[in-house]
Amino acid sequence: MINKKNILITGGAGFIGSALVRNIIQKTEHSVINVDKLTYSGNLQSLESIEESKNYTFEQVDICDEKELHRIFKENQPDIVMHLAAESHVDRSIDGPSDFIQTNIVGTFNLLEQSKNYWQLLEGDKKENFRFLHVSTDEVYGDLAVTSNFFSEDSAYNPSSPYSASKASSDHLVSAWYRTYDLPVLITNCSNNYGPYQFPEKLIPHVILSVLNGKKIPIYGDGKQIRDWLYIDDHVCALMNVALNAKVGETYNIGGNNEIQNIEVIRKICSILEELIPNKFNTVSSFSELITYVKDRPGHDVRYAINANKIKKDLGWEPQENFESGIRKTVEWYLNNKVWCENIQNGSYQLERLGVNLK
Ligand code: NAD
Repeated sequence: MINKKNILITGGAGFIGSALVRNIIQKTEHSVINVDKLTYSGNLQSLESIEESKNYTFEQVDICDEKELHRIFKENQPDIVMHLAAESHVDRSIDGPSDFIQTNIVGTFNLLEQSKNYWQLLEGDKKENFRFLHVSTDEVYGDLAVTSNFFSEDSAYNPSSPYSASKASSDHLVSAWYRTYDLPVLITNCSNNYGPYQFPEKLIPHVILSVLNGKKIPIYGDGKQIRDWLYIDDHVCALMNVALNAKVGETYNIGGNNEIQNIEVIRKICSILEELIPNKFNTVSSFSELITYVKDRPGHDVRYAINANKIKKDLGWEPQENFESGIRKTVEWYLNNKVWCENIQNGSYQLERLGVNLK
């Protein structure tokens, strides 16, 4: 028998949230209540394929709004909360940290309180099986510049940016609500995601759309920063696996086993685009000529790398996509979804990066 769950997802109109919502609605019998404020990075066009489903409800609500969250819990009686809503871009957190404190810390506190109040009144199996999954980042661990180590679930927290500090704070709040109130929580810390529908301020879509617009590709510092890249669908599978199968109170690191320098990622994208649209511009003989080195951002971590052995051992999850195939699929998606890309760039965002204004 299929055990149908009511899943409350925060941030379901964002990059990872929308992939999670599409996956649940298209591939399972579970229902989704998507709670999203629709900030600049939330986009309902990413959910057009499932918005008519009877198993899907959308609530345009700020997670800092106590009363509205209370109503949503009461009306929908969720079995699982998957918390993804966040301010998520490091560059923006350096320019203006206030929204990060508000949403990532105060918003998470508010959601924890509403979840706790709701959960404490539940009874029987509904109470026993309730889960709160907090979706976080490997950036809470800081930098691995001078070691060959990997982050494990036992690594010390050492965040560098206002973004990672606000996520670290939210992780600590979630752990405290488990230790103090027994709220049945789970935490995941994931490496850099990439794939379709990602807002183009992030590295990979930014590079693709810069090339398509004939703009320069800014790269911070020497471009040798290393990130561990995970294809979005692999992350979604990991999140569902943790939400449905993990033991209460556990933390899992999720990574892609793809440690690559930023400059290599950019060169790879340029070479795929040269193959797919060879005659796009006459002004450059190779798209990599568009690469422009710019001043590094403050506090830029040099290397993140995840040890994801625990989730493999406990839950049997490991990434299915390698970077070679995942990046090709991603580039092809952006080429084939021009309307989505154009609409995103018609808003307030025009491919700028942290005060870097290149034509
Ligand atoms: P995103 O910026 O694409 O989406 C965030 C979503 O949250 C948007 O839809 C936005 O409208 C919504 N939101 C923001 N503030 C809100 C508020 N106050 N109330 C309700 N909704 C609000 O982010 P993403 O890349 O999809 O990341 C989702 C989560 O995963 C975040 O918590 C992030 O820290 C975490 N994460 C992301 C990555 C990555 O590589 N993208 C890696 C690890 C962890």
